Amino acid sequence: MFSKLVLSLLLVGSSAFVQRALPAARVRNARVAPSMAAQIDLTGKVAFIAGVADSTGYGWAICKALANAGATITVGTWPPVLGIFEKSLSTGKFDEDMILDDGSTMKIAKIYPLDAVYDTFADVPEATRTNKRYAGLTGYSISEVAKAVEADYGKIDILIHSLANGPEVTKPLLETSRAGYLAASSASAYSFVSLVSNFAPIMNEGGACASLTYIASEKVIPGYGGGMSSAKAQLESDTRVLAWEAGRKHKVRVNTISAGPLKSRAASAIGKEVGKKTFIEYAIDYSFANAPLQRDLESDNVGSTALFLCSPMAAAITGVTMYVDNGLHAMGLAVDSKAMQMD
Ligand code: NAD
Repeated sequence: MFSKLVLSLLLVGSSAFVQRALPAARVRNARVAPSMAAQIDLTGKVAFIAGVADSTGYGWAICKALANAGATITVGTWPPVLGIFEKSLSTGKFDEDMILDDGSTMKIAKIYPLDAVYDTFADVPEATRTNKRYAGLTGYSISEVAKAVEADYGKIDILIHSLANGPEVTKPLLETSRAGYLAASSASAYSFVSLVSNFAPIMNEGGACASLTYIASEKVIPGYGGGMSSAKAQLESDTRVLAWEAGRKHKVRVNTISAGPLKSRAASAIGKEVGKKTFIEYAIDYSFANAPLQRDLESDNVGSTALFLCSPMAAAITGVTMYVDNGLHAMGLAVDSKAMQMD
């Protein structure tokens, strides 16, 4: 047993050495998400996941992880992309991505239009109400959606915030306008405060809320601009305060997951200069080259962490920022830096 351990440690050590000399082949990880469904049973629990509009993002992976464990899945979708999301679902575009561990198909019990920058209908400006992308829709402010969810399901158990928006994300902070900065904060940070404040009263005791954050909140990540880094710092600080307040007032937990880079639709929209990598492309390559775990991050890795955090297995965990980034947050040196090379 001991010699086996020593041998495997030696092998890990030597393969790490080889990987520095010869970059490891980028293969998809054979088995990304441990099958947690067997250990976590969320049958009878209801989850509301805000920020799902296609199958590429973290919100979708969280839906799947929770559905694998038996939870009822409801989602909140931004009105401008609601039509395309519903069409893609009905025409089978996501069929393959909906297959659960047991071979069955994930069911999204209900899709609510949700614009998380509005708390009440009175907050919605006339220009938005009459915008063609909002035409025919009502009840998409956060408080209205919470009321609709309560009318449909009574109390729920899990609230996920998987959304962000920063209209000036491609601009450095020095060039970000006040309006752009505040818009990033409103859509990406206050939206979580408002969701927790409106949903916690309709959550069962022991329920859990979680959001998605990014390391740019605490370390400088050039390219993640427009006040988005500030919004993520707010989100993490608010997680701690909300954990205290909602813990005492509603007996629910509040955590955030600091996820590594993923080529989602939202992330792909950050910066594209002709002939250059996009922000997310170099963030993924940087992570692969420098993180302790030299493997591609899969959205399911975040899905299974959200499942754990929202399950009774994490009953005593609240107020944390949990890193799911192959360990990149722990690094203080870029091992692939040109400065490390011998001339
Ligand atoms: P995504 O495109 O799947 O999710 C973003 C969602 O936000 C979209 O569905 C979009 O429609 C929605 N949205 C935007 N404005 C909205 C509004 N006003 N109201 C309601 N919904 C709105 O992309 P994603 O990258 O999976 O993002 C999910 C979360 O993960 C975000 O908080 C993001 O910052 C975070 N995150 C992403 C990465 C990454 O590399 N992709 C890394 C760390 C954290």
